[in-house]
Amino acid sequence: MAMRVLVTGGTGYIGGEVIDQLLERGHSVNTTVRNKAKSEARLRARWPDAGERLTVYQADLMDDAGWAEANAGCAAVAHVASPFPLGVPKNADELVIPAREGTLRALRFAQEAGIVRFVQTSSAAAIAYGQPDKTHFDYTDWTDLTAGVPPYIESKTVAERAARDWVAVNAPELEFCSINPVAVFGPVHDDDLSTSVEIVKKLIDGSIPLLPNMGICVTDVRDVAKMHVLAIEGPAAKVRGQRLPASEKFLWISEMADVARQRVPEYTTKVPKRKMPDFLVRLIAPFVPEMKQIKDELGHVRDVSGKHSEEVLGFTFIPAEQTIEDTIRSLVARRIVNL
Ligand code: NAP
Repeated sequence: MAMRVLVTGGTGYIGGEVIDQLLERGHSVNTTVRNKAKSEARLRARWPDAGERLTVYQADLMDDAGWAEANAGCAAVAHVASPFPLGVPKNADELVIPAREGTLRALRFAQEAGIVRFVQTSSAAAIAYGQPDKTHFDYTDWTDLTAGVPPYIESKTVAERAARDWVAVNAPELEFCSINPVAVFGPVHDDDLSTSVEIVKKLIDGSIPLLPNMGICVTDVRDVAKMHVLAIEGPAAKVRGQRLPASEKFLWISEMADVARQRVPEYTTKVPKRKMPDFLVRLIAPFVPEMKQIKDELGHVRDVSGKHSEEVLGFTFIPAEQTIEDTIRSLVARRIVNL
């Protein structure tokens, strides 16, 4: 049955795809953006026929203004907005505080508005870190913050924990679940790229000269959005309390490069073939922020299973190879990468 859904962070990569699929399925959408004057025209241009089925509200994760209005008339919330920067801030609180406070604010206003279902966009960052000897993870695993993890990973873990604790105490009747994506790729709609897509851009535009010995789990933005929609539409008994990882498969960066070369040879002439020795990454890590971020990932398998989500929601992930191909084709088609 068609309903009105609040999607926070409508300007984002995932938020935009969630809006797209909700509108496609006949629902209406309220969305929050940080700066309405700057963002509304861009959103209207993407969905020119949405009319009154799409309403844009200005609301910041760190401020109460706008949240009551954004929730009004909605039956469900997809809380997608959270800071996801390319670099690492000096102070973890720059990410942890808005992620945590923003999630609690979204929950509080949702409860006050009588929202029935609340889907939090969490992350595999809340599942698969802080346990250096573990290689395979699933929906039952939690990142261990006592081990010391990077700020973004801390922010997502703290935010999901805070949400679950808050719901247990303050709103046990709320049909809450989380979607926990690994690195999200797939078609893009504009040049405001999510941090995850920057990796593929750098791989094909020649800015990565050698392939570091690291891997990444891949999921498709279309599947991540589909999971949000299925979690909003599905029976309460199935989704309540669930943690739903979005993950198709783990690939080494060298395997991603091979897939790119095989699937789209015309756009991969700048994709490096040679591997970067681990010692070189460690050597330059103190001087190059990107290397600093990956030095602890060298040779490390961090494989998060999405099987549980397929079983609960009843769908099958798009193969990672297709996702990588579609990411590259859209980056070129939209002239975000000029080869
Ligand atoms: P994105 O394109 O950077 O989108 C982030 C969204 O959050 C933007 O709409 C941004 O709004 C909003 N936001 C950030 N800080 C905010 C604040 N203080 N107040 C209000 N809104 C704020 O990133 P994305 O990839 O779509 O990520 C969306 C969600 O998915 C995040 O929760 C992220 O942690 C999670 N996730 C992403 C991936 C991935 O690989 N992409 C993987 C796992 C989980 P502005 O446009 O105003 O900046």
